[in-house]
Amino acid sequence: MPQVNNLIQVQESNQNYGTQSYLLGPQRAAEAGRKTLVLDLDETLVHSSFKPVENADIMLPVEIDGQICTIYVLVRPFVAQFLKQMHKIFELVIFTASLSKYAEPLMQTLDPQKMCSYLLFREHCTFFSNAYVKDLTRLGRPMKDVIIVDNSPTAYLFQPENAMPAVSWYDDPNDTELNRIATLLERLSLEDDVRKVIRTVIQNNKIDPRQEQLYLASSTHRREKSQRADRRTKHSKLTSSNVQAAPDQQPLNIQKMHNKQYPQENQPSIAFGHDLN
Ligand SMILES: [Mg+2]
Repeated sequence: MPQVNNLIQVQESNQNYGTQSYLLGPQRAAEAGRKTLVLDLDETLVHSSFKPVENADIMLPVEIDGQICTIYVLVRPFVAQFLKQMHKIFELVIFTASLSKYAEPLMQTLDPQKMCSYLLFREHCTFFSNAYVKDLTRLGRPMKDVIIVDNSPTAYLFQPENAMPAVSWYDDPNDTELNRIATLLERLSLEDDVRKVIRTVIQNNKIDPRQEQLYLASSTHRREKSQRADRRTKHSKLTSSNVQAAPDQQPLNIQKMHNKQYPQENQPSIAFGHDLN
């Protein structure tokens, strides 16, 4: 198993909100206020097996029962692009029911730039009815701002209204599921409460194609309408500022755009879960 350096255990960075301890620490400063996108690994972003695969994208040596075994990993098409695109608009969290000794080195290869802020493993799942459930209320984020992308309905059993189901992936090189989901997620990132949309667009643990189209069309319409309104407001402010302000004064709205402040970074930006070893 590769050596893991400079990693901070999730439990060390747990925050106490009231009396309850949550799985995630604070958001990175640059991501403060964003919605949280929780991503599953197996059959959502990758497919792994102990059976040798000729075209494996990643080969991971993992110690199991005192023996080093190789895990062959196939990476779903468009994963790199998906992570990069989602990293611009969400706080990213990997939540897998697999063991950290497999998932942690895998993520080092899959996400060398550490776009994902936190990694959560099997020990962070809730064992319920003989299955590992990812209880999103334990994250410590407002539930209206949390979306999980997972191929297994069991994983989001407790909060289906926060789930964007992904079709299970094994090896199809022509799969475009992540692109489809990315389009929906981009729109969801602008919603006040993601659950309101998910309740409509997701039916029986699947994206309903008709509702998906209706939502994308309506949200495009809403976005264009609000952009038009923004342009009208800006134009009228510029016009009135030009009339009322002294020649050396900038209109207020332009000054505001240049003065955007972000909170100071006061916490480590990366935190990983603890190893089972
Ligand atoms: Mg899975």
